[in-house]
Amino acid sequence: MSVIELTDVVKRYQSGEETVVALKGIDFHADRGEMVLVTGPSGSGKSTMLNMIGLLDTPTEGTVRLDDREVTDFDEDELTEERRSSLGFVFQDFHLLPMLTAVENVELPSMWDRSVQRTDRAITLLRTVGLGDRLDHTPAQLSGGQQQRVAIARALINEPDILLADEPTGNLDQETGRTILEEMTRLKEEENIAIVAVTHDEQMEAYADRIVRLVDGVIQS
Ligand code: ADP
Ligand code: ADP
Repeated sequence: MSVIELTDVVKRYQSGEETVVALKGIDFHADRGEMVLVTGPSGSGKSTMLNMIGLLDTPTEGTVRLDDREVTDFDEDELTEERRSSLGFVFQDFHLLPMLTAVENVELPSMWDRSVQRTDRAITLLRTVGLGDRLDHTPAQLSGGQQQRVAIARALINEPDILLADEPTGNLDQETGRTILEEMTRLKEEENIAIVAVTHDEQMEAYADRIVRLVDGVIQS
């Protein structure tokens, strides 16, 4: 069963008099244990589609199902809760808080949940991504690749079903990018999550289970 499914999704933006149709009837799904890449030229609708999958924006038409629950009609509180419990986000520029250590950055999204041993889990995750000896370092004391590993650990702290990655290797050199991709490939199997990534990085294609190419708001292949 697909963990995320978009059916007939249309997204229109109104800017002044002009209507922009960013997505023109998208069918998309991702399953646990697979990495799906979303590629396409600038302006083709990649960010818009990632925003739909990330429950950051709602479609004008069509449905979004997450783990077989229709989320299209959720209100803002329900969407926030769903984002927190089901989704992890990784960004091109890491989005770490500079004054916090690696462990503190990783535990941050789990602060609301008093029932879990969040520091223990943060440390376990940092060990998993090879940073067991960098727990108390701040982002400035870490390389770009190490910072992205912290960000990946943070994205996994609430045990998401889906990891959404926006250009995860965009700020890294080729070799560092490759180690991050290897890490993500291992984690998608170990954690049994779906990874959906928007990328321009061609080396990422070798790690993908499927590649979805968007052109002008339509999935071309
Ligand atoms: P990509 O990520 O592939 O570059 P986007 O999803 O950002 O593409 O944009 C797709 C189209 O929708 C573009 O024409 C863009 O200008 C338009 N668009 C995106 N977001 C908005 C918005 N908030 N308001 C108006 N138009 C938008
Ligand atoms: P990137 O590709 O770096 O993610 P984008 O150009 O896709 O950047 O868009 C960045 C932000 O600006 C997104 O939140 C998108 O919704 C918004 N945006 C994009 N195009 C437009 C537009 N034409 N009008 C208003 N907002 C837009």
